[in-house]
Amino acid sequence: MTFSIASILAEHQQDRFELHSRHLNNQMVRMLKTIGYDRNYQRAVGPYLYDDQDTRYLDLLSGFGVYALGRNHPTVVSALQEVLTSELPDLVQLDVSILSGVLAKELLATMPERLSKMFFCNSGTEAVEAAIKFARYTTRRSKIVFCDHAYHGLTMGSLALNGEPIFREGFGPMLPDCLSVPFNDLAALEQALAKNDVAAFIVEPIQGKGVNLPDPGYLADAVRLCRQHGALVVADEVQTGIGRTGKFWAIEHDEIEPDMILMAKALSGGFVPVGAVAMTDKVMDSVFNRMDRAVVHGSTFSKNNMAMAAGLATLEVLRSEDLINHAARLGGELLAGLKQLEQRYELVKTVRGRGMMLAIEFGTPKSLSLKAAWAMLETANKGLFCQMVTIPLFKEHQILSQVAGHRMNVIKFLPPLVLSEQDRDDVLAALDKTIADTHQISGAIWDLGKNLAGHALKSKAG
Ligand code: PMP
Repeated sequence: MTFSIASILAEHQQDRFELHSRHLNNQMVRMLKTIGYDRNYQRAVGPYLYDDQDTRYLDLLSGFGVYALGRNHPTVVSALQEVLTSELPDLVQLDVSILSGVLAKELLATMPERLSKMFFCNSGTEAVEAAIKFARYTTRRSKIVFCDHAYHGLTMGSLALNGEPIFREGFGPMLPDCLSVPFNDLAALEQALAKNDVAAFIVEPIQGKGVNLPDPGYLADAVRLCRQHGALVVADEVQTGIGRTGKFWAIEHDEIEPDMILMAKALSGGFVPVGAVAMTDKVMDSVFNRMDRAVVHGSTFSKNNMAMAAGLATLEVLRSEDLINHAARLGGELLAGLKQLEQRYELVKTVRGRGMMLAIEFGTPKSLSLKAAWAMLETANKGLFCQMVTIPLFKEHQILSQVAGHRMNVIKFLPPLVLSEQDRDDVLAALDKTIADTHQISGAIWDLGKNLAGHALKSKAG
């Protein structure tokens, strides 16, 4: 048989979980089966996935924020096809490529003027690693300050900036001189900066874990404090950037001008891994300060033509389809719809978000019977209640969503920016129905809750 991807896919349709159990991460397979997410997805278009029964799923996870344009956008597909069939020179290494030059120029045009240089890499965490090195070299200081609950990636440098113990446990010792401060706490930041020995403060303009928004003025004051104490400000926009929050960059909401902006995810067009650091001249000129240091930081595949073409096509689609304004409007409408749920349901503690980055936080209910049921779940595993919403959303309404972090009762939505008005209405109706069901203590949904609690206790026990 001739080699073809289609035949490989056809041959292994029924044994994908078996392949993964045997040769990849079996715990992932176990988890998917436990929560009933073990589907055979066959194709994907825009915000939708289709399984082998041709059932359509609305994906509000977007590959953790990768699919701003939805999946398989034709403009990105055609740009990549063009690269594949053009016999272009790629990764010559002792050369400078045209596509990376143009993508750098186009990205910088979206940012405050003081950011005038780009560095490309292959992922979000690589952008963070680069930022750590660049900040240390530029300032000749070693300390990096990050925020509680931060998520900046899982390689060794980024891991040292991760606010969540489960990611760090057993992988130590961590990179030294990394210290955390509570998000939205200026006094703590000022204290951390006081000795004028901090290289950089790295911050997500909206924290991904929990969808925590900055208080008004927090980021602007943080920048002011960092400047006073000679620390650089790194805005990690890996998740929030490229239109997600209804502006090109989330820092625009707060009108701050950092020294570096990090990006990845959506820049890929959903196809080719890519990451990047935008920075001031000062940072670039200090790190790459001599000819013999021209390759002092970099990686083999960075600036490859496929990634650069995907990035350029992504920017083109954002412009031509006016997707960022669309995301701002539709996201605002979704948030308004969620606010109504907050008013109607006692289990909904609060809702929040910006653009297409939204969250519902659940909290202890008032009525006695619900309170007891809630406590049973919280004792089994903090944050378990959210599964009682995400699982029915998936099974009954074919909506894929996620819990926003470990040990928190927050559900998060990262819809593709191309979401339609009909999708918006479907999401709100499905949430209304599902959350209403969680208020029926005798209903089937609490059988699921008890089941989940049983699983959680068993898994804790061994
Ligand atoms: N920073 C932020 C804010 C992120 O959300 C992520 C990924 N979720 C990363 C960095 C790491 O990106 P990657 O997974 O591409 O390494």
